[in-house]
Amino acid sequence: MWLLPRTHFSSSSSSSSSGSLCRALAIFSFLLFALALLATPTAASRGDRLPEFKDCVQDCKERNCLYEKTPLPLHLRLLLWNCPSECDYACQRSVTVSRVVDGQSIEQFHGKWPFKRLWGVQEPFSVLFSILNGYVHYVGLKSLKRELPRSYPLYRYYRLFGIFGMFCWLWSTIFHMRDFVFTERMDYFSAGANVLYGLYLAPIRIFRLYRPTYARILRIWGMVCIAAYAAHVYYLLGVRWDYAYNMAANVVIGSITNILWTYWSIRHYTRLKSFWAAWPGLIVMWLIMAMSLELLDFPPVAGALDAHSLWHAATILPGMWWYKYVATFFPPPSLPYALPFATLPLSLHYVLRCRVHVRPC
Ligand SMILES: [Zn+2]
Repeated sequence: MWLLPRTHFSSSSSSSSSGSLCRALAIFSFLLFALALLATPTAASRGDRLPEFKDCVQDCKERNCLYEKTPLPLHLRLLLWNCPSECDYACQRSVTVSRVVDGQSIEQFHGKWPFKRLWGVQEPFSVLFSILNGYVHYVGLKSLKRELPRSYPLYRYYRLFGIFGMFCWLWSTIFHMRDFVFTERMDYFSAGANVLYGLYLAPIRIFRLYRPTYARILRIWGMVCIAAYAAHVYYLLGVRWDYAYNMAANVVIGSITNILWTYWSIRHYTRLKSFWAAWPGLIVMWLIMAMSLELLDFPPVAGALDAHSLWHAATILPGMWWYKYVATFFPPPSLPYALPFATLPLSLHYVLRCRVHVRPC
């Protein structure tokens, strides 16, 4: 039985190119891992400074953690809960319930809302929606493999997009299961990499930078993106961990990507009058509307469903839509790829997907 101070009532604690690609991603993951380990602790919130919370935690630790240690259930220990963190959680819940009963506002603790956990999982809805987002990328990768010919020049870029997406949602799942400094850094850095990869990909598709004529520009563009990401990580870890800056950086990068795709959609829709040309622009509009949820930041409904989890829920459908778009509509091979032998499967595929459906690609 977990003992809380008597002043509070206890809450119910409830291929070769593939090989080099994988190697590059493994090195990237390892570097992120090592950098995140150097991270410093998170800043405090208003809830942590409440005297009743401080008293509750202190009393709880004295009762449960010092002399006669209260054992924790196995499922909590497996998710790395220990005596002090259990006290912290139980006190967050009891203080929050007391405040709600007294008609006071719900406060954040350690930068987060006081969620009701489920089987030791801190933010069950965010975890569920992160898993579903990751699954969308997994299924999307399989659809790319099935639908796109290997000779299609954008195939590897789209594949990498899926891998970045899965990496991002994996860390989002882990972070929302258990919030540690390390898991938070990994979530932020993988999300940043995902957003920046979106920007890297957009001009390659929109301006067809994959064509051999643009090989040099493409190399420079790649180096610019890598340098920007390195500077971003260096600033956050080496200079200052700044939530506002991190959010602003992601919004700016995401907005540039959105503008590029909106431009692409307007241009092609005006020219072709085909509904499919509007898809990227519509996906962008959806994402912009969904993003407003992230900016709302209201306390969790029923202690579980907050704006952040809804933002994660809102990205599932556009993810599915995006893969449907890239796997269905792709441009014809440009001249250097149009050698009969090299591109026969691609040309056939193109004819079947685009011409038969009367959709100029
Ligand atoms: Zn999240």
